[in-house]
Amino acid sequence: MALFDPKAKIISNYQRAIDDRTSSIRKYYDEIGKLYYDQYKDMNVDNTKDINTRCEAITRLGNEIEDFKLKILFEKGLKKCPNCGTENSLEYGFCFKCGTKFDEDSAKEPKTDFEEAEAKVEEAAEAVEEKAEEVAEEASEAPAEEEKKDEE
Ligand SMILES: [Zn+2]
Repeated sequence: MALFDPKAKIISNYQRAIDDRTSSIRKYYDEIGKLYYDQYKDMNVDNTKDINTRCEAITRLGNEIEDFKLKILFEKGLKKCPNCGTENSLEYGFCFKCGTKFDEDSAKEPKTDFEEAEAKVEEAAEAVEEKAEEVAEEASEAPAEEEKKDEE
C-alpha cells in the first residue's frame, strides 16, 4: 500500500536528498580535519581558504537539510511554528502551543533556498534574453535610433 502512495515517494526522495547532504557534510568534516592537521604539522602550509570553503559548504548543506525537513513536514500536512518550533497542522492560523500567528504563506509548500536561487537565475536569464531581443529588434529596425540614444 505504502509503495503506491505518491506522497510516500515524494517524502522518500526528500529523505534521500537529506541523506546525500548528511554524507557530504561528514566528508567535509573529515577533509577539514585533515587540512587542519596538515597545517598544524607544517608551519608553511596555509589551508585556511580550503577549510573556509568547506565550512561554508557545510553551512549551506545544513540549511538545505532544514529546507527538506520542512518539505517533508508539508507533505505530512504540517508546518513548524517560527517561534517555538512546534509542529502545527497546515491550516492553523496560530500556533496551538505558543499562540504565535502564522503568516499567510505558511500553508504553502516551502521553497528551498536553492530553488529560490534557481528561480532568480532563470528570471535574470529571461530578462537578459528579452533585452537582447529588444536590442536586436531596435538595431534591425532603426539603426539611426541607436546613434540618437548614444547622444542622450
Ligand atoms: Zn509556537
